[in-house]
Amino acid sequence: MALSEYELIQRAVDIVEDSPHPANKVAATIAGQDKDGKAFHLARTNFWPDSIKEKIGFDTKIGNSSGTVHAETACIINAPVTENAALFVTDPPCPNCMKNIAEARIKTLYIDHKGFDKDWALRNEDHFAHMSMRIAVHAGISVYEIWRKEEKLVPILEVSKGYAPVIEKPLQIESLPEGDISASHFLSYVESKKTEYGDAPFAVAIAHDILGNSYALSAEPHPAIGYTSRTLDEADEKYSFILQPINRLIMAASRYGFWIDADYLYSSRVPTARELVNMMGAGLTKIYIGDREESRDENGLEALGQLTGAGILNVQQ
Ligand SMILES: [Zn+2]
Repeated sequence: MALSEYELIQRAVDIVEDSPHPANKVAATIAGQDKDGKAFHLARTNFWPDSIKEKIGFDTKIGNSSGTVHAETACIINAPVTENAALFVTDPPCPNCMKNIAEARIKTLYIDHKGFDKDWALRNEDHFAHMSMRIAVHAGISVYEIWRKEEKLVPILEVSKGYAPVIEKPLQIESLPEGDISASHFLSYVESKKTEYGDAPFAVAIAHDILGNSYALSAEPHPAIGYTSRTLDEADEKYSFILQPINRLIMAASRYGFWIDADYLYSSRVPTARELVNMMGAGLTKIYIGDREESRDENGLEALGQLTGAGILNVQQ
C-alpha cells in the first residue's frame, strides 16, 4: 500500500540528522511511479559527492558554489522517474533547487512546517518568497506546508487542473538507432547541433533507458519553465531564474527515467560552478568542452581548474 504524505515526510525527518552538513541539515523524500507503474519512494540528505569530500574537502567552495548537492536535487538525481512525482522536504527549497524541481516536472511539494522556523529559512525568507515560490507558480507546482503529528496540510499554492507551463525552448530528445555509440559519432552529432544553436551556449548528452534504448539530449540555458525570456522577473543577487544546460539535461534525464552515459557529455563552454558540482553528484566525471576559455562567469573557470587539478574531473580531448 502506498504511504501517506505524513509517512513520506517522516522518512525525510528520520534521516535528516545523518546529513554531513554541520549547520544546515536538510532531507527530502521523493515519491512517484516508475516506468512499470510501480510506486517508489526514496529519501536523501544534502551531501558532498565523495570525490569532492575526499580530494577537496568540506570547507572549500567550488568556484562560487558550495561543494554540497542539496537534498531535493539528490532525490531527483536518484529517482527512477520524477515526472508527476511528489517531493517532501524538511526545509523550504532554495531557488536553485526549485528550478531543478520544475525542470524534473515534480508536481507537488510538501514542506515540513517546522522548516519555516529554522535558521536557514529565516535568513532566506526573501529568496523563498521572491524566487522559489514564483518559480513554483510559473511551473505549476502545488506547494503545501505539512504538519506530521497533526496530520494537517496547509495549502501555500494550489495549481488549477490543466495548467500547462509554457516552454520557450524545449529540451530536444532524439532517439538513436540501435548499435554502439562511439566518440566520433557523438562528436559529429555535436557538430550538427552547433549550426542549430548558433551563438547560444548548449550541452549534449547521450542517455539510455531500462529497455536499452538510447537518446541524444540537448539543451541551451532556459528560464525556469513557465517563464519566457520576455516574462522573466528580476532575480535576487545570489540566484538566477535561468537554468543552465547541463542542469537541464540532468533533470530531464530523471524526468523521463533515463540515465546519462558518463562517456558522452558535451558543453559548448565551461559549465558553471553549480553545474560542475551537480555533475559530481550525478557521477558524471568526464566532459567534452567546446571552448575551455569561455564560461558564464569566472567562477566556472575556477571550479573547472579545481576539479581537474584534484583529478576528479576529466576533460576529454
Ligand atoms: Zn537547494
